[in-house]
Amino acid sequence: MALDAAPMADGFGRRFHYLRLSVTEVCNFSCTYCLPNGWKKTGPLSFLTVEEIGRLVAGFSGLGLSKVRLTGGEPTVRKDFNAIIQTVAAAPGVAKVAMTTNGWNLARHAVDWRASGLSHINVSIDSIDPETFHRITGHDKLNQVLTGLDLALAEGFSAVKVNAVLLRETAEAGFDGWARFVRDRPVAVRFIELMKTTDNDEYFARHHVKAQGLRDWLDQNGWTPAPRAFDAGPALEYRHPDHAGAIGLIAPYSPGFCDSCNRLRVTARGKLRLCLFGDGGVDLRDLLQDDDDRDLLVQRIVSSLGGKSAGHALALGRSGDLRNLAQLGG
Ligand code: SAM
Ligand code: SF4
Repeated sequence: MALDAAPMADGFGRRFHYLRLSVTEVCNFSCTYCLPNGWKKTGPLSFLTVEEIGRLVAGFSGLGLSKVRLTGGEPTVRKDFNAIIQTVAAAPGVAKVAMTTNGWNLARHAVDWRASGLSHINVSIDSIDPETFHRITGHDKLNQVLTGLDLALAEGFSAVKVNAVLLRETAEAGFDGWARFVRDRPVAVRFIELMKTTDNDEYFARHHVKAQGLRDWLDQNGWTPAPRAFDAGPALEYRHPDHAGAIGLIAPYSPGFCDSCNRLRVTARGKLRLCLFGDGGVDLRDLLQDDDDRDLLVQRIVSSLGGKSAGHALALGRSGDLRNLAQLGG
């Protein structure tokens, strides 16, 4: 079919080969910037089933999809997470199956997830000080998470990375500890600038710091920007000759952040979301009930891309209708 051959692209020359798929809104952590009071059930838990996920990914894969990131909420709280990985990994053209996790059960499952087809893991670790980690996530589990991280590194995944939200308190504590952390570990630690959502206004005002402080520290300490792949997303990575790992930053409030956008998002309830900081979404779920609806699904995805804007409006104080990132997966 002609549409199947067309790559996913928008009116600004950006191509979208990468889908971030939320598989649940549920989370077992209560990170201060995301779900400070923990996840609360507010309605029926009607998240996409494995079958619906299979149809969704098949639709995208006909349009040039090569990478899927499973996220949430905490994706690994789903009992059928292995089946989800297997289904996504089996889609034609999908070469990378990634996930973002808080790492609570990584030590227990890294081996079977890898066997199921998971290739890339991002583990969220905001601090390597156990007490600070406990305070931020609500769980005294730093050691457990680090055990999982090191096991995953030993397990031969294509890439294991760490996400750390850049908060005033962790930035003020400095980055020397993190440099030691990556001296012998071949892991990229990427600091994400805190993002404003409709739930965290006040928190954002108190805890947001610009990525420039980290950039200055990297410059002053001999870290240099690594060459960027042609299809790289918005993260910038820095390397140092004495360190096995890398330090990176994701700075959505910096100018030009959206120019290299290469991703689309689908919520755990099947809505296509064109921008993290946008509003609403295009419902795809009605077309995920029957294999025969695949062409209609492809058409809806392609026609929706026309609605993707050139960039977010964070500089104007508009961050969209997202209550917290657990709703969509970051
Ligand atoms: N529960 C998983 C985890 O924490 O890795 C996956 C979902 S979580 C929403 C995805 C990523 O978004 C995590 O790295 C988390 O730290 C980050 N995140 C959540 N809220 C954020 C915010 N307001 N600003 C920046 N990053 C945020
Ligand atoms: Fe849960 Fe991830 Fe949000 Fe933390 S950042 S509360 S682990 S969804």
